[in-house]
Amino acid sequence: MEKIYEILKTLYGYDEFRNKQKEIIENIVEGNDVFTIMPTGGGKSICYQIPSLMFNGLSIVISPLISLMKDQVDELKRIGLPAEYINSSQSQAEYSEALEAIEENRCKLLYVSPERLELEGFKSILLNKSVDMIAVDEAHCVSQWGHDFRPGYRNISTFISSFDKRPVVAAFTATANEEVKKDIVNLLGLSNPEIFISGFDRENLELRVLRGLDRDLFIESYLHNHRDSSGIVYCATRKRVDELYSKFSKKGYPVSRYHGGMSPGERTENQERFMYDDTKVVFATNAFGMGIDKSNIRFVIHYNMPQSIENYYQEAGRAGRDGLDSECILLFGRQDITIQKYLIENSIDNVERQNHKYSQLKIMNDYCYTSDCLRKYILGYFGEIYGKDSCSNCTNCSDDFEKVDITLEAQKILSCIHRAGQRFGANMIALVLKGSQNKKVLNFGLNKLSTYGIMEEYSTEEIVELINILAAEGYIIITEDKFPIAKLSNLSKKVLRNEVKVYRNVEKAIVQKDMDSE
Ligand code: ADP
Repeated sequence: MEKIYEILKTLYGYDEFRNKQKEIIENIVEGNDVFTIMPTGGGKSICYQIPSLMFNGLSIVISPLISLMKDQVDELKRIGLPAEYINSSQSQAEYSEALEAIEENRCKLLYVSPERLELEGFKSILLNKSVDMIAVDEAHCVSQWGHDFRPGYRNISTFISSFDKRPVVAAFTATANEEVKKDIVNLLGLSNPEIFISGFDRENLELRVLRGLDRDLFIESYLHNHRDSSGIVYCATRKRVDELYSKFSKKGYPVSRYHGGMSPGERTENQERFMYDDTKVVFATNAFGMGIDKSNIRFVIHYNMPQSIENYYQEAGRAGRDGLDSECILLFGRQDITIQKYLIENSIDNVERQNHKYSQLKIMNDYCYTSDCLRKYILGYFGEIYGKDSCSNCTNCSDDFEKVDITLEAQKILSCIHRAGQRFGANMIALVLKGSQNKKVLNFGLNKLSTYGIMEEYSTEEIVELINILAAEGYIIITEDKFPIAKLSNLSKKVLRNEVKVYRNVEKAIVQKDMDSE
């Protein structure tokens, strides 16, 4: 496989493959189907472009991104890879020219839209060629679980199986939850594919989660201390974007805003001013993002917790595209869960999809409470194995935090859940432990439990916080629906039997303060 290095160097000018490119290319060339999950910018294109030069016949790339095809093909021709494209945007003359190149075997790599493959005439031209590889880009489009379902993708497997000699199939995507993964393998008819998940780690991004602080004050001091940095502050609602924008623009900060409720003209203007550094900071909803390719974004702050890790990492990942150190800060407030649940409940999604979103939300929520390495947590979500236990570049791996033993508190909480019959949510359990006179507590007779009031020195908010921490660590199972119930997991028995200790991460400054006041 010396040749693939030669192509890498002569065509692209690179010396080394990155992520799993080499393994992916080798597998394709050897005729094994592959399924690659790599984030945008990870370097997927090379993984099918290089094999196309290793095969004798034609290779086909199926892609929904019609508007990019011309530029991609022009660039490939420029560097010396004979490529063509065929889609609905080209003129008859361009179409005929491309077809001629294919017929005369002057084309190694052909880009087509999935819809083209529905045209019988065109399909039969391809079926009569010797096709060695079919690469399916944006493969998640085959799945209804993905965000860009394209009916045309459902015909790809029939197309593939129509060849007398089945070409090797390589699927690529940047999004990767379990349902989508299964759909890609099944609906594209991949045959025993090697699965590669890589490139999700962004070492230069510092991941931070901050819970329970005054968010406006935090933003103010952050903006004050980072006056020259470019950044995005994402909020869950348009209203909050407007409020923060007016507050900080009045204070003289170079800020702007972006959300779906603004006129298209204003949005474009604000986006451009941000791109050209006229404004440093944008307050925005998740509408801000498509096509934001600004390299020097130094921080992405989430004022609210987003709905899923996927959304979070995509938005946070807009920081530090230039490879320089950047911060991704999630400011978590407990109301965030309520906001997101409201949004899910009031969406037009069917029940199945809503339930799926509730479970995504739960994983996101656990991210905010885990005391594990945040990088490991995120990579784990995408299915990529992180080789280390700690990254030294996230809240939980930082020296500013200290592990504090909360085994006793955990035992009190777990035994309360047990005694209350595993039928209540975190708030109710917290009220019982607090010894609240709340009507529901009394009506259910929960004030008669032996665990009633055994944590009265804590606020109910603190107890709920501890319950969430225990859930994130797997000691408690919080059911994934609209009215979640806290239940015991198998692991919780070990805590109750004193076989394991439970810890939480606490900022050193806070631990110190507590000690001082004792
Ligand atoms: P994706 O399709 O995954 O979004 P691309 O294939 O467009 O990513 O690659 C992103 C960028 O990384 C491109 O500019 C590409 O030239 C560059 N790149 C890809 N592979 C390598 C490599 N091995 N070494 C250096 N740069 C690379």
